[in-house]
Amino acid sequence: MNTEEIDKEFVLQTYARDYTNFTHGIGSTLYDENGADYIDFASGIGVNSVGHGNEKLTSAICEQASKIIHISNLQVIEPQAKLAQKISQLYGKNIGTFFANSGAEANEGAIKLARKYGDTKFDNKKYKIITLEHSFHGRTLSTVKATGQESFHPSSFAPYIDGFSFAPLIADVKDMIDDETVAVMLELVQGEGGVEAFDKGEVQELARMLKKLGLLLIVDEVQTGVFRTGEFTASQKYGIEPDIITLAKGLGGGVPIGSVLTPHKNILVAGDHGSTFGGNYLSTAAGIATLGILEELHNSGGIQDTIEYFDSKLNEVLEQFPELFIKQTGIGLMRGLKAISGEIQTKIIKSAMKNGLILLKAGRNTVRFLPSLTITKAEIDSGFIRLNEVLKNI
Ligand SMILES: *Cc1c(COP(=O)(O)O)cnc(C)c1O
Repeated sequence: MNTEEIDKEFVLQTYARDYTNFTHGIGSTLYDENGADYIDFASGIGVNSVGHGNEKLTSAICEQASKIIHISNLQVIEPQAKLAQKISQLYGKNIGTFFANSGAEANEGAIKLARKYGDTKFDNKKYKIITLEHSFHGRTLSTVKATGQESFHPSSFAPYIDGFSFAPLIADVKDMIDDETVAVMLELVQGEGGVEAFDKGEVQELARMLKKLGLLLIVDEVQTGVFRTGEFTASQKYGIEPDIITLAKGLGGGVPIGSVLTPHKNILVAGDHGSTFGGNYLSTAAGIATLGILEELHNSGGIQDTIEYFDSKLNEVLEQFPELFIKQTGIGLMRGLKAISGEIQTKIIKSAMKNGLILLKAGRNTVRFLPSLTITKAEIDSGFIRLNEVLKNI
């Protein structure tokens, strides 16, 4: 059996998979089993923040793996402590971090923290969380229910946990807050929902209102975090100080890791929350290496240069193909080209793959770009040459 046949026989078929079989990658170029090359504008859905085969990251992983991969959270874990310190330093505020293994698990931690806060800080118990329509917060039973898209919570998986409601717009949040509301959770740039960035002024106003009411602002930065928008967190870019921020995708450069960041360090106490693998030696050593690489690139202006270059290329595409795209969306290196239809979106992404370019979907009709933050101008050029070829033939 070839790999596709083995996959179809033995892996549960929960994904509509493409069967290009990649064997290795260098930077933002991937190679398949036949030696064909692909420009990677997806970075594993925003995970491979420092590209493929990054020497600093792989040597940090190998070195750590040869010493200790895992010791339980019942012991202190040096790279975990140092990664938490690094996160606090990059965020520029004194915050504490809890480590998990994924975005959804980080959001679960955020929800638990908010509920404990709501149970202990008020006269009455507050547990409700308002999220936004078109949001995406994960695939576990509670994060899928937190996701503001009805299609994500079909009756087949019911009953779900209580306490989530969905605001069509940020402006609607105010009227939805009741005596049992404890928090609002949102993505500053909705990723899966269509790469739509919220307005900075509106977000700041929401943050001010919640602070006044003593309620929590949770920002799901699983996709926007770790320099994706140009700053360490999108919250810094938006000039807000949320009560809880979650990170995951780009944090380990591809090694599974999630984290819950908060200035409220004393809400969760020993026994309240945990994770067997969360924050182990391997993932946090990878996190330290990844943040080291990205901090340097950020401080040298490299990330900003790449953002501006990528932006100019997207604008060229938009100008050249007004019959295919409505607008470009997103910020930093989290971008979208909104196609005129879902059919065109699908056609572009499928045809790009055949032409050696990896793109992603978002929402109903947006072509999403999540390149690694270390992508070079030559790789960007090469990717857009391929994209142009594809678009000419749509
Ligand atoms: C990807 C994503 C998640 C889920 O992360 P997993 O690691 O797949 O659990 C949650 N929130 C946002 C905003 C995401 O983009």
